[in-house]
Amino acid sequence: NRVLLEVNNLKVSFDTYAGEVQAVRGVTFHVNKGETLAIVGESGCGKSVTSQSIMKLIPMPPGRIKEGSIKFDGRELTKLTDKQMESVRGSEIGMIFQDPMTSLNPTMKVGKQIMEGLIKHQKLNKKEAKEKAIEMLKLVGIPTPEKRVDQYPHEFSGGMRQRAMIAIALACNPKLLIADEPTTALDVTIQAQILDLMRDLQEKLDTAIILITHDLGVVADIANRVAVMYAGVIVETGTLDEIFYNPQHPYTWGLLQSVPRLDTKNKERLVPIEGTPPDLFSPPKGCPFAARCEHAMRICKEEFPEKTQVSDNHYVHCWLQHEMAPKVENPVAERR
Ligand code: SF4
Ligand code: MG
Repeated sequence: NRVLLEVNNLKVSFDTYAGEVQAVRGVTFHVNKGETLAIVGESGCGKSVTSQSIMKLIPMPPGRIKEGSIKFDGRELTKLTDKQMESVRGSEIGMIFQDPMTSLNPTMKVGKQIMEGLIKHQKLNKKEAKEKAIEMLKLVGIPTPEKRVDQYPHEFSGGMRQRAMIAIALACNPKLLIADEPTTALDVTIQAQILDLMRDLQEKLDTAIILITHDLGVVADIANRVAVMYAGVIVETGTLDEIFYNPQHPYTWGLLQSVPRLDTKNKERLVPIEGTPPDLFSPPKGCPFAARCEHAMRICKEEFPEKTQVSDNHYVHCWLQHEMAPKVENPVAERR
């Protein structure tokens, strides 16, 4: 079986004084062993909440998983106790975040932070764990790891801290790494280095990755498949090539037109997507993108578009796929 993670009809809400925020509204996707799935969308689209739900890291309450299942390597994660989940988090699913300063412990030596999981989950003794920590620092490209292992996070540069985070996340050799905006806080050169590193390590360790990002440039560098999220739902999913060169959803078109092209020789005008996403206190019953979509038809406001299959691994939720819909020219089809 190639499938490592299977998320089915996941719904997550936050209960607030103002009402229920439906942050994730029925999300279905899978991740195969060893592959990278990018979940892409603007901030507030539910991509982080989705990944935090997999890790059971949403604060409950006010957050709650209302519905759906999260199957990981044969187990239903929504049914695990906190204790069981803690061991999955430390050893089978690793996580890295945008800002290592908020997730690294500033008062603890970097080496110690790598050793913690090894001692707890892999039952290594202190000496073995320290050796492994040095090995991990070396693996993520930190020079003089024997010295660095005894330093504190503030003695590391931003890029080095992100490398250290990766070392912590991968120390127990997890099957899945969730990376939420892992390079967003870094400058462009360091960003490229970190992505290279993630790709290298993935090959070496055969880790599957869920990459959460708003940045399609990052996606192009590392993803095998892409899921585009908007207002708490996945509106389009496909292989990297299909999403970049044959996208079908007007929101995906907008995203592609609002980021710089990969080949910088060919600078085109960047077009931001007008308008704002819908209010998730009372999401629209039809297509969530209707208010911003220049192709919106009457049905778009009335009914949520069912899933249409474009090709083997390419699906989209858009009424333009309907046989009765007017033909619309795909504005980004000729990007290649
Ligand atoms: Fe636009 Fe309608 Fe497609 Fe939604 S369903 S993206 S409103 S054309
Ligand atoms: Mg986020």
